[in-house]
Amino acid sequence: MKTLSQIFQTSLLVLFVLASYQFTDPVQPELSDPVENADLKRAQTIFNKLIDARGDKSKARPVLKWEDEKSRGAYFLPGTNQIYLEASAYKVCMSFEGREDEALAYILAHELIHYYKGHGWEAAFAREFEGSEMAEQVDESTRDEKQQETESDLLGGFLAYTAGYNTLGIAEDFLKRLYNAYPKWPKEWARSDTKIRRYPTLSERIEIAKNTQAELEDLIKIFETANWMVALERYEVALDLYNHILLKYNSRELFNNQGVIQCMAAIELVGKPLIKYGYPLELDAEGRIQFSTRGSNDPKILKAEQLLKDAIKNFKDALQLDPDYLPGLLNLGCTYALRGLIDAEEDEELKGLYYDYASVYAGDTKWRAVRKNKTKLQGDALTLLGIIAAETGKGDAAAYFSQAKSLNSLGAVNLKIYQDEDPSSAIQKLPKPDFPEKIEDLTLTTFARSPFADEGTMRTIEGKNNRKWGYNFKNKKLEHSIILIDLLNTRTDYTYLHITQPSYTGEKAKTNKNIRLGASRQEILDAYKSPDREVQLPNGYLISYPNHNIVFWLNEKQQLEKWCVYRMKKPRSF
Ligand SMILES: [Zn+2]
Repeated sequence: MKTLSQIFQTSLLVLFVLASYQFTDPVQPELSDPVENADLKRAQTIFNKLIDARGDKSKARPVLKWEDEKSRGAYFLPGTNQIYLEASAYKVCMSFEGREDEALAYILAHELIHYYKGHGWEAAFAREFEGSEMAEQVDESTRDEKQQETESDLLGGFLAYTAGYNTLGIAEDFLKRLYNAYPKWPKEWARSDTKIRRYPTLSERIEIAKNTQAELEDLIKIFETANWMVALERYEVALDLYNHILLKYNSRELFNNQGVIQCMAAIELVGKPLIKYGYPLELDAEGRIQFSTRGSNDPKILKAEQLLKDAIKNFKDALQLDPDYLPGLLNLGCTYALRGLIDAEEDEELKGLYYDYASVYAGDTKWRAVRKNKTKLQGDALTLLGIIAAETGKGDAAAYFSQAKSLNSLGAVNLKIYQDEDPSSAIQKLPKPDFPEKIEDLTLTTFARSPFADEGTMRTIEGKNNRKWGYNFKNKKLEHSIILIDLLNTRTDYTYLHITQPSYTGEKAKTNKNIRLGASRQEILDAYKSPDREVQLPNGYLISYPNHNIVFWLNEKQQLEKWCVYRMKKPRSF
């Protein structure tokens, strides 16, 4: 980020208001202005979605205020939890026909990052002394200001993405239109204006926005790669990629994802016969059933114990950001149950303690899920209570699994396991296909023979192995798809993911079984039968068919948003 030496945006044209300066704990949330203003209401809806996606309740919930006066566009008032949106800036957002909400998300997410990152103090301080001799001495703070702007643009873009808004490509045009709407803002400096030169001009801003956009695009691609990797059970790669993002951006979902991956990896390491049941943090029971039996006296157990410890830390970090984050609470319960099963095999007292913890978290999740009317989570919590009862012999496991049955799919599977029936009886499978899946007529097998990335896109993802990551679409002249590359060794350890873009439409844009973008979950299940794995994302689902080397990405409405055809080689152990 240091390379993006300059970026400024409207919000930092914030004047320091002494009265609003507070050293006290986060300000209590205020009620917003009465909503009669339909424009404010529209902005408010997006604002709330962004706050929920951020999921950080360690600070007071920010409040959106409307401002009719025309001076600063949109801004965060340092020292408060208030973010202001001016009518003129709103109008600029509305000029993005078809992308109005995305433009609003762009500017609001930017301001929200200022708030959550506690920006604005240094900049405001500098302004206080504007024009005095002291202004010369506070040039240092200008650098902070630029860094804050870069950070807000980059992380704001990422926040908008996680909330479901694609802001890519908006920034440059947005800035031009905003500067036109605010003619008093300087577009270029006169040569003599040395005193005020540290304020950005339009052309400076655009230059910076372009650089930030490029970095944002990569960050999103890396995040997506990590999600696909979870579906493909490449946990170690996924962990490195999520870590790469966590260095810049943290959220309860990212901590939670880390924890879930660590648990999944531990489950895979230990496998049968110790792990009998499907834990509600992993949605696929069938994959678990196929796990190999574990060797005796296995160093894998130690590795699994470490993974579970790390997972607990991640779930606790997620819950620190948001104590009401129910998936984190449930996953914490699952992890303690796994620890009771795996780490404390020999120690009855410790085992009892772990299961007690697991019970408390499962019970708490269930109670809160009932109150919030979240039925799937309620079913997941009941499933976990059933597992605990089955493993400890205390309580009625069958009753828990039966209650869960109508609320989630895992309840039914676990009930069958508990009653010693074959849980896979209901699973339908297709044989391996004769022809490989293709996107845009490119066969990945050919690509895998000499894989290469577009110029300048390959980078090292720091981690245990320092894997390489990059992408290719220019080189292969792909128009409606992209190939993401994860690579350690071109012969023994790689993943190539060929992914459709939203523009992949038309007669030929379909899978071997005639599935097109927008297809429903049921259409996919009818065509490809029971998936081998299913992974739940904060904003969707991945369903995976290793036999066909294909993974489908469904959105929250269970519609096909994109799919991925892949080739992969992985080393034997985690
Ligand atoms: Zn800003």
